[in-house]
Amino acid sequence: MSSDLLKSTLSNNEVKSPIHLLLLEDVPEDIELILLALTNADLEFTYDTAETASLYTLKLEENRYDAVLADYRLPGFNGLQALKILQQSGQKIPFILVTGSLGEEAAVACMKAGITDYLLKDRLFRLPNILQRSLEEFALRRQQQQALLEQQKAEKALRDSEKRFRSLIENAIDIILIVSSAGEFRYVSPSVKRILGYSPNRLKDQPLFDLIHPEDQQRIKSFFNRIKNTTNQSIPISEFRVRTHDNNWVMLDAIAKNLEDDPAIAGFVINCHDITERHHTAQQLRYDAYHDKLTGLANRTALLHELEHAIIQHQRRKDDHFALLFLDLDRFKVINDSLGHLTGDQLLQEMAKRLQQCHRQGDMLARFGGDEFVFLLRDIREMQEAVVVAERIHQVLQPPLMLNNREIFMSASIGITISGEHYHHPEQMLRDADAAMYRAKAKGRACHEIFVSTMHLSALKELHLENDLRQALQRQELVVYYQPIFDLETEKIVGAEALVRWHPPGKSLIPPNDFIPLAEETGLIIEIDRWVLKCACQQLYQWQQTFQKFAPHFISVNLSPKQFSDASLKDKITEIVDKTGLERQHLKLEITETVFLKNSHAVLGILSELQELNIQICLDDFGTGYSSLSYLHRFPLNSFKIDRSFVIHLGQTNKNDAIVRIVGTLAHELQLELIAEGVEEGYQIEALKKLGYQWGQGYYFSPPIDAQAFTLLLEKNRYHVVEKI
Ligand code: C2E
Ligand code: CA
Ligand code: CA
Repeated sequence: MSSDLLKSTLSNNEVKSPIHLLLLEDVPEDIELILLALTNADLEFTYDTAETASLYTLKLEENRYDAVLADYRLPGFNGLQALKILQQSGQKIPFILVTGSLGEEAAVACMKAGITDYLLKDRLFRLPNILQRSLEEFALRRQQQQALLEQQKAEKALRDSEKRFRSLIENAIDIILIVSSAGEFRYVSPSVKRILGYSPNRLKDQPLFDLIHPEDQQRIKSFFNRIKNTTNQSIPISEFRVRTHDNNWVMLDAIAKNLEDDPAIAGFVINCHDITERHHTAQQLRYDAYHDKLTGLANRTALLHELEHAIIQHQRRKDDHFALLFLDLDRFKVINDSLGHLTGDQLLQEMAKRLQQCHRQGDMLARFGGDEFVFLLRDIREMQEAVVVAERIHQVLQPPLMLNNREIFMSASIGITISGEHYHHPEQMLRDADAAMYRAKAKGRACHEIFVSTMHLSALKELHLENDLRQALQRQELVVYYQPIFDLETEKIVGAEALVRWHPPGKSLIPPNDFIPLAEETGLIIEIDRWVLKCACQQLYQWQQTFQKFAPHFISVNLSPKQFSDASLKDKITEIVDKTGLERQHLKLEITETVFLKNSHAVLGILSELQELNIQICLDDFGTGYSSLSYLHRFPLNSFKIDRSFVIHLGQTNKNDAIVRIVGTLAHELQLELIAEGVEEGYQIEALKKLGYQWGQGYYFSPPIDAQAFTLLLEKNRYHVVEKI
């Protein structure tokens, strides 16, 4: 330390006043002399005295002093020991020996032990000076020690913060890089090992661009050029892919700062954050938003997007046509309700797979909802192209599929509409395709219809149908028609089938196919069927009264599969029948195969009970559904009706005839009555008779007619002059 600095330190740290002294002296006169010497020098001071070692020790423990003035020879101890006691006390203050005489040896020992100074008693006039100097020296030493301590503290703090900073970088979640402006790694934080799999040392001086995905390289290079012209500014680099050690890609987001001017860095500091997971999640979310979970097809949102786009495109280029095919699986609801939703889901997945085979690349297939699918077919030059796709769809759906060990036949109804200037919104096109689809359903399913503008009106009507149907029951707008069933041999009436119609006042008759599906969906069918059952039984009873043995032997009433969820079905039926007075054996209940898909155990129970009560069971529409010949002997049946579709094709293909024959033979074996429905031509009667069929119904004989017309028919029947109607 220079002398100037020393002075300034001292002046800043002047010896305080008054000073507090401890006099170690056993001779009172000597004490007086010392005090005199100090007073003469105008020193302000206070003091304590001690003469024995114990008192001295005690004083040091209890007080703080600025200096000790000690005689060498003391009672029971000496100056050297006194110095030791002071040193042990921890007080770092001057220790000055004031002694009469001191041998050379003792003087050397004292100096070695570390006394501050010593003075002979005959030179006491120098005491103030010595004391002053000693005090100053100690103050300075304390000051120096203080300064040193502070410096050490500061250095430690710096070391700590450097360590902290390094550890921050080395343990950072992000990768922290220093890259030269030419793109070479200068520093790579250890986190690179965890994120990319490289050891930081291996990357040193390597080019960063080698790791960047080729598609992102250009962007990052131009970013480097841009950052070169900035200083001290943090600039973000968004989403770029970096190759990992094991050749995968990691998506990074980064922020970079040009610190080329800082000699400690001399490059760009880049902080890279791994966003791979976030990126995947975002991608997944985007995927989920546009895809149907169950089938993996595009979903409704995606379709609406595409459709909107296609409509806009078409308005720009009027010659670019596209078509929309709206497809609804037939009878899916029945399967879903009866086989359970899990099977329903499997079926939808299988259907989706098949449908995917039907369109070309660039077209879109979406699951629009439940069992509804929509195709968007682009580059359509004429309607016929869309029709071809619809035909292909019917074809791929045809082979039965096995679910839960059952063969299930599926078909779909398809509505088609084609782009046009009048379409401005996706909803309009979908509405029209949907209306056409409904028309296809009404036509008997498994077919397609092209939209024509009148359909829009009928679709609107559909909306009101449900409400109207509810009221129809109360307002007694339903009517039962009867279709006679004839003995093919004698051509006499053996029975009749009750078929419901709806006759809203002032409007034409609505056929059951237009409202039964809705009634089934809404549950109204239960009430409708019971009402028809009552009418039919009353009617037959009445005919029996009038025509006796010329009356039909039985009345067939259709029973919706829905009825079978009611455990008290048997009681309800018998109650209705019994009330009308009709004997139970004259009632035939027509059920379709779908009821067996339900809880077949429960169905079996209900049917057996009904049969035990003498009520007859007829299996309707045989051959159209989930056909399994095993139903015929597993379930309690009295008769069955082979479906119209087999009758139509009689004599056309060997296969068809073979089926009709096998069914006939089987019915014979099982002693079941056989009815053929949909007989329209005379030659069909001949063929049916040959194949062992007993009874038939169809337009050849008579369509369904109202009770009054039927009564007339019975009149003629009585005299065996049945005319063809
Ligand atoms: P379904 O039980 O198969 O009834 C036979 C259908 O074939 C009747 O249609 C009948 O008019 C029609 N048909 C009869 N002979 C011929 C023919 O020679 N050629 C053609 N092409 N068709 C013929 P409808 O009356 O329109 O009834 C349709 C369906 O509505 C019935 O089919 C039945 O499933 C259902 N249905 C009718 N009434 C009721 C009812 O009271 N309750 C229930 N649950 N369903 C009913
Ligand atoms: Ca029927
Ligand atoms: Ca039928």
